[in-house]
Amino acid sequence: MAENTIFMKIIKREIPASIVYEDEKSLAFLDINPFSKGHTLVIPKKAYERITDMPEKEYLDLQKSVLKVANNMKKVMKCNVGTLVFGEEVPHVHIHVFPIKGYIAVFNFSKTEKYLENESQIYLNRLKFK
Ligand code: AMP
Repeated sequence: MAENTIFMKIIKREIPASIVYEDEKSLAFLDINPFSKGHTLVIPKKAYERITDMPEKEYLDLQKSVLKVANNMKKVMKCNVGTLVFGEEVPHVHIHVFPIKGYIAVFNFSKTEKYLENESQIYLNRLKFK
């Protein structure tokens, strides 16, 4: 298990993140380099490197958090929601949850949608569980 990743630092509040959801086993926060504005990462608090390292129960618990975050995103942003797992950059399981605008076949995964100044705070306020 990789205990020194940037995501472990976020879990331990050693570095800041725009946290939208938290429970006993998982945390969700805005991706700093979003596919689309509101793009959120849902991670387990345990430092598994890849989903294939996770016991089934832990994985299913994580997906319950993904569903909560996705349903909330759909409701507040009035959009369809996609989920993806890549895991190439940070060796701590993270599930991408993101608003889809338009037809998925032409969705742009090149991460060019940058937040304008203070805009991520607006998305945090919209997506944060009350
Ligand atoms: P990948 O490992 O390719 O599935 O993607 C890792 C994701 O983590 C990328 O979308 C990054 O933009 C995101 N990321 C990396 N560091 C941070 C951070 N400190 N806060 C939020 N998102 C991050």
